[in-house]
Amino acid sequence: MDEKLKNKTAGKMAGVIVGIKDNICYKGHKVSCSSKILEGFESLYSATVVERLLAEDAIIIGRLNCDEFAMGSSNENSAYGNVLNPLNEKCVPGGSSGGAAAAVAADLCHVTLGSDTGGSIRQPASFTGTVGMKPTYGRVSRYGLIAYASSFDQIGPITKTVEDNALVLEVISGLDKHDNTSSSTKVPEYSKELNTPKKYKIAFLKECVYAEGIDPEVQKAVLAKIEKLKNEGHTVEPVSFPFLEYLVPTYYVLTTAEASSNLSRFDGIHYGHRSKDAKDLESTYKKSRAEGFGKEVKRRIMLGTFVLSAGYYDAYYSKGQKVRRLIHNKTKEIFKDYDLIVTPSTPGTAFEFGKNSQDPIKMYLEDIFTVQAPIAGIPAISVPCGKHSNGLPIGIQVMADYFEESKMLDLAGRI
Ligand code: GLN
Repeated sequence: MDEKLKNKTAGKMAGVIVGIKDNICYKGHKVSCSSKILEGFESLYSATVVERLLAEDAIIIGRLNCDEFAMGSSNENSAYGNVLNPLNEKCVPGGSSGGAAAAVAADLCHVTLGSDTGGSIRQPASFTGTVGMKPTYGRVSRYGLIAYASSFDQIGPITKTVEDNALVLEVISGLDKHDNTSSSTKVPEYSKELNTPKKYKIAFLKECVYAEGIDPEVQKAVLAKIEKLKNEGHTVEPVSFPFLEYLVPTYYVLTTAEASSNLSRFDGIHYGHRSKDAKDLESTYKKSRAEGFGKEVKRRIMLGTFVLSAGYYDAYYSKGQKVRRLIHNKTKEIFKDYDLIVTPSTPGTAFEFGKNSQDPIKMYLEDIFTVQAPIAGIPAISVPCGKHSNGLPIGIQVMADYFEESKMLDLAGRI
């Protein structure tokens, strides 16, 4: 690296210490999705994002704990145990990229890569006072990301600043022949399109900002930020998004369906854990999966299998797809009149361990503001927006239309 720096041939990420979530493959290194079922498994190839970081001379220092198979909002669903929030160790760091957010907040590395299916980058960023971004679906290759819900999953950076976030995005983005859903849309130099003097037309979603159950201090902080943006010359107007109550159900019907299919490959034969009690093919499947998967992953496989089953397919899966289209259309409609959408990132600040873990519905509702973006496929970022009287950070979310990451990062940077 010193040699390259001397010769001025060093890449954009020279010397940057990067951690990767434990669902991103790095050839010759372990990857387990924080699950017992992948115990001891080593990646046979590197994810495209890893190749692109290495090509720019980043230093990949290690892998980071997460909720098992990226399913969770608190990092309490990991075979390795909980990740603590470095700002208050009684509290969760968020999930599922809890380790990725905590590692940045605790200065264990400069930047990390997480994955976001329903908020797994943005919610932990909000809980740890860091910057977390989910790119447009297709902006970043998913090759080498172990799939949870393939039509939602995206890899994205967690960083201390928006500048760093933009730089990592420009390095990892772009078409990849290994991922047919990756987009050929040109990759701008995101890091050079920040701090513009542009004035934006911004919508804030009334149903989110005034949602029932939102922490009053979170609401206050977001409204104060909205006032500030107005004073800086942006147009900020309340807009109605009437489908708020359908977001979480749609997300959990569709993602569990995709997960039940994706996770069928973990069968005790191809990868990782195989039950010692297995006697034949069927008991190898059954026992290995029963021993290898944790409770939440099993819950989702069963829920997903149910919504896809012959008798219920139309009532749940097809219906979910139709509602996804409505949510997409309504979201697109807002972008006809506005450049950007703003909401709180989460209804509250980081919660204490155990608070939601006995009640899955309560836990799922933590995702209420973050699931809209991946349901619609649009990009979204969470940036810090003040401190709660409990001492924990509050996050604000900015969403943009497809491939409008530049605008989104520009506004996020100014916030
Ligand atoms: N918390 C959400 C869930 O449990 C989001 C997870 C994610 O984005 N991977 O599914």
